Amino acid sequence: MARSESDTWDLTSGVGVTATMVAAARALASREPEPLIDDPVAAPLVRAGGVEFFTRLGDGDMELPADTAEERAAAQVLTEVMAVRTRFFDDFFTDATRVGARQAVILASGLDARAYRLTWPDGTVVYEIDQPEVIAFKTRTLAELGAPPTAPHRPVAVDLRDDWPAALTAAGFDPTVATAWSAEGLLRYLPPDAQDRLFDHITDLSAPGSRLATEDHPGPGAGLGEKADELGRRWREHGFEVQLSELFHPGERTPVVDYLRGRGWDARARPRAEVFAGYGREFPDSAALAAMRDSSAVTAVRPVVRAGMR
Ligand code: SAM
Repeated sequence: MARSESDTWDLTSGVGVTATMVAAARALASREPEPLIDDPVAAPLVRAGGVEFFTRLGDGDMELPADTAEERAAAQVLTEVMAVRTRFFDDFFTDATRVGARQAVILASGLDARAYRLTWPDGTVVYEIDQPEVIAFKTRTLAELGAPPTAPHRPVAVDLRDDWPAALTAAGFDPTVATAWSAEGLLRYLPPDAQDRLFDHITDLSAPGSRLATEDHPGPGAGLGEKADELGRRWREHGFEVQLSELFHPGERTPVVDYLRGRGWDARARPRAEVFAGYGREFPDSAALAAMRDSSAVTAVRPVVRAGMR
């Protein structure tokens, strides 16, 4: 079903299913021979979510469906993309808190377990924002699994198209404290203007020294949508019913780095292949994967203005 302005979801429906999908990929990536990441709660969270297709994948009872060598390569790349992406954001939070951020805000946290598995410096508070049913499910399930948060943890149940700054502030967020923000696997699920507003709000809430990590997928997103649907067609034969491209909001977007620079951030983008290489992995040079290769990892810092400088 196509998106609407105020659609809602849980982990088994609409956009929520994508949180289950990427958690299943993290479970797979955690089991690789020389893993880049270790997410021990990814598989149990996926299992508890109850989407059979992803439970079988996450538990290693099924491989991603693929008939040809090209499909097998694409399936392997999906796992690698999640391994590299997860590690990139893990390292971002570790670095940002090492240089002084004492609040972390994980936007669209889904089944991301960083608040439960990273080592946070004393005094750091971790906020997570996602839709109410997603937040409730993860918080409840991890409590049942006996996995406590590794820092003071404040889940904020709100839609990112609504007044989330008010909800975040009501949860205790302090805009005078340097903050590390992540928007991982989120932007394509927001309409283009909501993406710009998201960065406006982050900017308004960011004290000097704050940092941000996100991704950019250039163009109107048609390539990514087609790729997602190609995979989805294969998965449908195995009981997965969602048309992934319908979950994306189409349309031209302002390139993320340009937008952030315009709002006063020092921002840079690194192409996916470069991020892969930084972790000793190679992104395949195949035309079939061009839409995925064109994505970049974006990091930005809110400059500290010293006395006497303008
Ligand atoms: N960042 C998580 C990760 O990488 O594991 C989850 C990524 S998942 C692909 C997309 C997430 O974005 C889902 O958890 C979904 O609920 C969340 N999301 C998308 N649009 C949202 C919105 N308007 N408000 C709140 N959450 C949203």
